[in-house]
Amino acid sequence: MDNDFFPADPEFINVERRKAKALKQTAWWKNQIGTGLCAYCRQRFPPKELTMDHKIPVIRGGRTSKSNCVPACQTCNRLKENMPPDKWRSMLEQRPS
Ligand SMILES: [Zn+2]
Repeated sequence: MDNDFFPADPEFINVERRKAKALKQTAWWKNQIGTGLCAYCRQRFPPKELTMDHKIPVIRGGRTSKSNCVPACQTCNRLKENMPPDKWRSMLEQRPS
């Protein structure tokens, strides 16, 4: 249920965004985007076109961690941003893999 949506407090968001910036500098992240694979549509892109996506958005209390951050293409990123999380999830589940 995503009906009770309380935005995380601004301080938390700032901290997690700063962590994301740092995480992007790590060898781990460079490996993630090095494959060029979008975590959602599974298509390949030039690494510089992939963005860091928080599976659970920071604004919903998601943390900047290796398990919560995935490479996403700009199309998926935009789609996901404009979709309620449950709708996005069911769309992913319907996608043939
Ligand atoms: Zn994608």
